[in-house]
Amino acid sequence: MPAIRYAGGALDRAAKLREDDDWLSAAFVSDAALAVLIHNDRNLVTGLVGREDTPRAATVPMAVVRERITNGASWVFLGLDGEAPVFGVELTGGGEDIPEIRDAGEFVDLRRVGALVPADEAATLAYARAMLAWQRRHRYCSVCGSPTESQRAGHVRRCTSPACHAESFPRTDPVVIMLVTRPADDSGPARCLLGRHSRLPRGAYSLLAGFVEPGESLEDAVAREVWEETGIRARDIRYQASQPWPFRYSMMVGFRAVAESDDVVLDGEELEDARWFTAAVVAEFGDWEDDAAGFRRPRKDSIARVLLDHWVEEEMGKA
Ligand SMILES: [Zn+2]
Repeated sequence: MPAIRYAGGALDRAAKLREDDDWLSAAFVSDAALAVLIHNDRNLVTGLVGREDTPRAATVPMAVVRERITNGASWVFLGLDGEAPVFGVELTGGGEDIPEIRDAGEFVDLRRVGALVPADEAATLAYARAMLAWQRRHRYCSVCGSPTESQRAGHVRRCTSPACHAESFPRTDPVVIMLVTRPADDSGPARCLLGRHSRLPRGAYSLLAGFVEPGESLEDAVAREVWEETGIRARDIRYQASQPWPFRYSMMVGFRAVAESDDVVLDGEELEDARWFTAAVVAEFGDWEDDAAGFRRPRKDSIARVLLDHWVEEEMGKA
């Protein structure tokens, strides 16, 4: 299985240091400390798409944004890059007034550059984006509604009401995503089931997917989603790989499953279309960005793409 984007980051998360206030205070003012910046869910990157050079994750010295933090900007300790402490920092303004930030790059949606930046940098950008998105959306206690405050270097938010003090932890919402196939038989070669949401670009097809519900195993969720979306019973549900998906903070859990029948019955809600494709046909699909293509594969940075390409290669190898 090829590498999964946004996973396998190189930072040492050094979780014990999150509770070491003395160490954190020193790290904060250390000359070596680096800040990974977020603004409006966007990451700071150098070298834009469309230019010759590869975009890279941009960091700035912590000193550049320290004043913003003392004024209340959200921050989180992400981990150590070698000896250097690395912090994620959310800027409420875009930092245009700070020359070091202007010179470092610009704030870009990670969807635009996630497949282009080096893999370990993509993982750090995704980690920072997900953590600060969680921070921003959990400023009030879900138990009593009082404001929460950041604790343990940004990895816990605690209710400020003395009568409550409920703690909330960073979220990763599980989503199952599955490559459903039919083996080769009298009607033809092996084929896979792909669907399309109306919100996808024209001609783009992807794997079926859906959120896991309380009271379900991952396998239960795979079977239910396939049944609900296409009216097909799935069996032999097997785990393949997972991906931290930072839009906003999902955990994509990838499976393969075998369909018990061919007939697709759309639910008329989630999917606009779902149909069977052979590996030879999928191999001719265009890329996600290819506006001229009749059919398009999933985004390059997605686990959907990895699972689909892997199956296509396997099947083409048999031919
Ligand atoms: Zn509370």
